[in-house]
Amino acid sequence: MTGVLARLRELRAGDLPTHGGRTLAYVYDSGLSEVDEVAAAAHALASSANGLDPTAFPSLLRMENDLVACASKLLGGTAETVGAITSGGTESCLLAVLAARDARPEVGSPSIVLPETAHAAFHKAAHLFGLRKVVVPVDPETFRAVPSAMADAIDESTVLMVASAPSYAHGVVDPIPEIAAAAASAGVRMHVDACIGGWVLPYFAKLGAEVPLFDFRVPGVTSISVDLHKYAYCAKGVSVLLHANAELRRTHYFASAAWPGYTMLNPTLQSTRSGGPLAAAWAVVHHLGEDGYLRLAEVTREAVGRIRSGVAAIDGLRVLGDPSSTLIAFTAENDGFDLFTVADEMKVRGWYVQPQFAHGSSPLNLHLTVTAANHGSEAEFLADLSASVAAAREAGAVRIDSEVAAFVAALDAETLTADQFAGLLAAAGLLGDDGGLPERMAPINALLATAPEPLRERLLVEFLGSLYTP
Ligand SMILES: *Cc1c(COP(=O)(O)O)cnc(C)c1O
Repeated sequence: MTGVLARLRELRAGDLPTHGGRTLAYVYDSGLSEVDEVAAAAHALASSANGLDPTAFPSLLRMENDLVACASKLLGGTAETVGAITSGGTESCLLAVLAARDARPEVGSPSIVLPETAHAAFHKAAHLFGLRKVVVPVDPETFRAVPSAMADAIDESTVLMVASAPSYAHGVVDPIPEIAAAAASAGVRMHVDACIGGWVLPYFAKLGAEVPLFDFRVPGVTSISVDLHKYAYCAKGVSVLLHANAELRRTHYFASAAWPGYTMLNPTLQSTRSGGPLAAAWAVVHHLGEDGYLRLAEVTREAVGRIRSGVAAIDGLRVLGDPSSTLIAFTAENDGFDLFTVADEMKVRGWYVQPQFAHGSSPLNLHLTVTAANHGSEAEFLADLSASVAAAREAGAVRIDSEVAAFVAALDAETLTADQFAGLLAAAGLLGDDGGLPERMAPINALLATAPEPLRERLLVEFLGSLYTP
């Protein structure tokens, strides 16, 4: 047994660090070791229990209702508010869309209205559930949704409006009250995607920050998603989808008696549901409590403030919009250097920052998810960022081989084959030395940035398929 665990530790050592604040995306670190201990112990106690049947495992039912009640209290819910625990933010968003679609069976070709900054989970929902997307440009300066444009996009086919609190890409909160008012007056549901902000913005407000209203206190908001595995600092695999009332929730429930086995009765997309993530979340939420989250929000707010002003002070960098949460996106002011190279240089210095491609009015930028664990090392981060920009300036812009660029330009997303993809990788020398992942991502990212979005998506799918080959 110890042999296999030693092997696992060895494998994990090659991953990005999940603790210590050096990975500024994907992971959320409270910096408190007992939070991890509580989560691991609770996970182990309940991971064999199955949420498939809440009457067989009433402990899971109890914990789920309790967590939904906690989220509702935090987000302005009422006695009517209900919800569901899901596996993550994407599942919560998917279910909000599914419930909205199935509540309006009379709509022939249902659509959802999204600001262009809405999370890709809604594009996935539209794709999976066959809805049309009506994507509305955001304000090019603030990156916030434009309420009048959102309202104008509503028609008879609209079953759901979406806005973010905040958006993942820029960390800005959309004008929820105006959008929700437009949705309500059209009789359309309104989902607030607070996956990343829902467990931290209310605490920022308690600390005196000016946080725009975004929760159930806003008339017209019918559902809210909030991920416990983000700023509730829970182990991965838990999100909450809240509905303003039970009627709104019913249409994502599923029951089937049409087979000879047990009656399948599911509140979410999963059927068998591990009790592990739920119990871990329940334990962490109660272990930290109001006071714990308030303290974590306080240090996170300090860290994000320092990092934001530090980034703005680095020559050549510009913060996008006016982020009011824990996320920062910054772009390069001039063409003297390449942000993809900055990301690689940060990697060399032991930090992960996340490149975001240009889309709509949003230029190529680097994204930072700041958590409590960043508190205390802001100066070190900023010094390394400054050094990375200097190194990127020194290196100059990434040059893409003209033959490779021509190869990419000639590819067709519709007909791309695995062989063509393999040819591209070889031609571009994009494979690492041992055939594994390359050390430096800048050349790959620069090449991907030249590809139109549908082709980029196709290339990435091929890439994923090549990764997931045993
Ligand atoms: C993270 C996130 C999601 C998706 O959540 P997952 O847990 O990664 O599936 C959706 N919306 C927003 C705003 C997010 O930040």
